[in-house]
Amino acid sequence: MLRIQLKVIKGITDHVKREAPVEACGYLAEKDGIVIKHYELTNMNASEVRYSMDPAEQFAAVRSMRSAGSNLRAAYHSHPRTQARPSAEDIRLAYDAGLSYVIVSLLDYCIKSFKIKNGTFEKEAIEIIDNNHSDLYQRSNDVIGLRENS
Ligand SMILES: [Zn+2]
Repeated sequence: MLRIQLKVIKGITDHVKREAPVEACGYLAEKDGIVIKHYELTNMNASEVRYSMDPAEQFAAVRSMRSAGSNLRAAYHSHPRTQARPSAEDIRLAYDAGLSYVIVSLLDYCIKSFKIKNGTFEKEAIEIIDNNHSDLYQRSNDVIGLRENS
């Protein structure tokens, strides 16, 4: 279960829309079991089909999390033109089985979370923490559907 504040969902969504059609990527920080902040990282590939995080920014983000009393919970990236499903490369590059991998699809406006290990993945449930703004976001167990006009 990935528990995440609504403001973070909005922040991620804004980020990936801003970077499109290039893939966006970043980290999600957790405190007390809830994702409370996203860190936008540079996609060094500046590619529409793959991403590579800037190692210096990764290091700085983790340092910032630690000083704020939070920890790295998940990595996210966007799929501007494909569904929210790990690609073969996403599976190959998933380096930490303890992290969640969040994928935002701009094809069907879905956010999904996955655990990836040993070359396979499984979907993880997402819970949004906030009951205001439910008009903007639909929750259905493990898929967050974003309305296109939101
Ligand atoms: Zn991907």
